[in-house]
Amino acid sequence: MVSAKTVIGYVISAVLFVFAVIFALASAYAPIRLVTSAFLFLAGFGILYYTRKQQPIQITQKLEVPGKVKLQTLRCPNCSASLDISQVKVTKGVPSIKCSYCGHIFEVTEEPKW
Ligand SMILES: [Zn+2]
Repeated sequence: MVSAKTVIGYVISAVLFVFAVIFALASAYAPIRLVTSAFLFLAGFGILYYTRKQQPIQITQKLEVPGKVKLQTLRCPNCSASLDISQVKVTKGVPSIKCSYCGHIFEVTEEPKW
């Protein structure tokens, strides 16, 4: 999946490369333009690197969320019975569990670990 942010990143770096080439060609008349050209190339590479780097990180974060729930021990806040983690059901993006002992339904709250 390609996000709009990625497309914008590629477009900006492409534009910077085009300008870098124009400045490089123009440096035949004014050598100082070669410095500007080098800066544009570096900026273009920087944005390209940043855009490419961003993609895998977002995917990893999405995959980490369901895995974290399994690491916890659940206890019913009503009768303090220990509950089976496999009973957790995600409703409206919130993981919740129904206690098999007293029937109490509560949200499974996660403590952030970073
Ligand atoms: Zn209970």
